[in-house]
Amino acid sequence: MNTVSRFLADLVFPNRCPCCDDFIRWDKLICGKCHRSIETVYEKACPVCGLETCICSEENFCDRSLVPLRYETLVKEGVLSLKRGNNKNFGEYTGKLIAGIMKNEMPELEFDMIMPVPMSPASFRKRGFNQAEIIAGEIASALDIPLVTDVLIKLDTDSSQHYLNKSQRMRNITAIKIKETDLTGKRIIICDDVITTGSTINRCARLLKNSGAETVFAAAAAGTKLR
Ligand SMILES: [Zn+2]
Ligand SMILES: [Zn+2]
Repeated sequence: MNTVSRFLADLVFPNRCPCCDDFIRWDKLICGKCHRSIETVYEKACPVCGLETCICSEENFCDRSLVPLRYETLVKEGVLSLKRGNNKNFGEYTGKLIAGIMKNEMPELEFDMIMPVPMSPASFRKRGFNQAEIIAGEIASALDIPLVTDVLIKLDTDSSQHYLNKSQRMRNITAIKIKETDLTGKRIIICDDVITTGSTINRCARLLKNSGAETVFAAAAAGTKLR
């Protein structure tokens, strides 16, 4: 959101912290208290899958990953308020956080484009936006690379990932397709909001690699700890 529209929106819907719901200044994304309490965990995570408890397998198509936060407490609240659509601040906040870490700690890496994990048309109609795209959009502008949303697509499936059994979940993942595109030599960031098993983002990485991508870097706001 640009500065003017953010200021005007605040007059009608006063800006709130996406994690604790306190009122915050119109130009802030999160309150100071939540910002200070949210801890980054990527420092001790596996650099390939990005998670604290490594989920890498030989079927891994991502070259490297960055997942700065753990999906719990305040972070979970922030992600849920983003998904519900009542407060998108957390998408911008985590996008900026990811881009900042990439710039400061991986300045040697270069990218040609960023893509969000796609959402099916039915889910998009229901939600009105793709939360992964909000995060990806922030990273795109911070790193000055194009945001590409029409190469990876997702077909409609019967339901959302959360409540599915294993075979439905598999079908949900294979519903992600790629349009015939030549990505030869491209260095691509694939972005999602939360990584749980890594299978969704790995599916995307596999499709991108099969279309010629040279490297795939996965970025997600938060990772769940596998039980
Ligand atoms: Zn707060
Ligand atoms: Zn790993």
